[in-house]
Amino acid sequence: MIFRANVKRKDPGGVAFVDRDGTLIEDNGYLSDSSKIFPIGDAVSSLQKLKKSGFAIFLISNQAGLAKGKIKLKEFNQVKRQFDALFDAEMTIFDGIFYCPHHVDGIVRELKRSCSCRKPGTLMVETAMNFLRIPPSLNRIYSVGDKTIDIMMGKSMGYQTILVETGYGKGDKDKIADPLMLPDYIARDFDEAVCIMVEKL
Ligand SMILES: [Zn+2]
Repeated sequence: MIFRANVKRKDPGGVAFVDRDGTLIEDNGYLSDSSKIFPIGDAVSSLQKLKKSGFAIFLISNQAGLAKGKIKLKEFNQVKRQFDALFDAEMTIFDGIFYCPHHVDGIVRELKRSCSCRKPGTLMVETAMNFLRIPPSLNRIYSVGDKTIDIMMGKSMGYQTILVETGYGKGDKDKIADPLMLPDYIARDFDEAVCIMVEKL
């Protein structure tokens, strides 16, 4: 697990675990080129709005491209830096950023493994929660993403879940066979997901 976290904000009114590719930025496959980061809708200002309303925000992202050799570590770091520059230049938005670089079918030896951090595994959100002194009640904690793995991860933790219809969201919505895995909310995009979270707070 690759992460940074700051421990300044300890008693948030709510917590949002937010996926990156397909949710905040366009998902065009393994992102290795830092000039190809395109925010979806008004994701940048929506994150600011979410923050202002008292949420702790954690980015939770699978980056199996690292294990699979599709993204070199240097490229990953460039993308990470550019993402931060676009979304969180002053480091005031994200309380933590978590990436899982692993994959069981990887070709990079040190990253080829089955792990507990890869979503729908819950190690990234569990680690993030350790940074909060008093976590809010479960109905104020959200997992937001465009894939069923984001919903599954949220459900395993007892969180509220929001599937966004950007990225893989539209296709993944129709693939959900298990009614227990249905998201609590479906949002057109991240901007609408933020409206839902802020309204319920
Ligand atoms: Zn992992």
